[in-house]
Amino acid sequence: MANILGIGIATLDIVNHVAAWPAEDAEVRALAQDMRRGGNVTNTLVVLSQLGHRCRWAGTLADDASSATIRADLARYAIDTTDVRQIPGAHAPTSYIALSVQNGSRTIIHYRDLPEYDLDAFRRIDLHGLDWLHAEGRNVAAVAGMLKHARRQHPRLPLSVEIEKPREHIEELCGLADLLIYSRHYALHQLGAEAPAAPEAAADAFLRRQRQRAPRAIHVCSWGEHGAYGLTPDGERHHSPAFAPPRVIDTIGAGDTFNAGLIHARLAGQGLAESLCSACRLAGDKVGRRGLDGFTSQSLQEQP
Ligand code: ADP
Repeated sequence: MANILGIGIATLDIVNHVAAWPAEDAEVRALAQDMRRGGNVTNTLVVLSQLGHRCRWAGTLADDASSATIRADLARYAIDTTDVRQIPGAHAPTSYIALSVQNGSRTIIHYRDLPEYDLDAFRRIDLHGLDWLHAEGRNVAAVAGMLKHARRQHPRLPLSVEIEKPREHIEELCGLADLLIYSRHYALHQLGAEAPAAPEAAADAFLRRQRQRAPRAIHVCSWGEHGAYGLTPDGERHHSPAFAPPRVIDTIGAGDTFNAGLIHARLAGQGLAESLCSACRLAGDKVGRRGLDGFTSQSLQEQP
């Protein structure tokens, strides 16, 4: 069991289950609706907690009813929220998600007016005893300051950063972490018109570019149903295929689950090839069912 701190957001997700993604300006009826806590880093922590780790979350919440729902959900998974900053008068960030029953795809519209976690709040956190720090790549200047602070205070603490979306100056975070986890969306955006059509070639081209930016880091990119690709500082390339469940039911949080699997595997001392494989196994298990409940160490192992 490890002590893990996650920096990033928590949201309220309102999920409309639809037969298929509707055309623009269409009016469709949802087949079902559910509300759940979301947000990349808190999702990752919820999975890590189920895998037996002691998890703390550093982020912001408001003082509205939705924030109370989020807090209650985190408490259910024993996530320590001592470091959370509560901001009076703001609203919990909300994601309105259309989840397609046809193929499990999720289309998200996100609204937030809540300030992000800031560097002053982070400086007050006691980082002693931590085994891993994972941050969402957002609020770039503050997160860069947090990573530098953590590195100065605890040079041996492993630092990982998830880079999901293109944001101004986000590349600055690359040189500050030991493990960078990118989304396919970010990779394709970076490659632009030069992106090769084949996933393997595109991932390879992207990861090599990122290695030039941060030669000492491990770079990983998840690629949906094609699994995930990784590159070590020595230039070793690795790939794991995805592990498709009997039916893809819900891809919300697949990437966050993948991140949890990767961190868990690295903490267990696994090499990159093996880590990619267990992360894809865990994410494959997740997309076969609704929500983020029911993970055990069995989810990381080969099913008979
Ligand atoms: P995100 O959810 O952030 O968009 P990805 O789509 O890259 O991230 O998915 C993360 C991981 O989840 C993939 O590397 C893969 O292992 C798994 N995954 C995603 N979609 C599927 C799918 N349709 N079938 C099996 N595994 C999947």
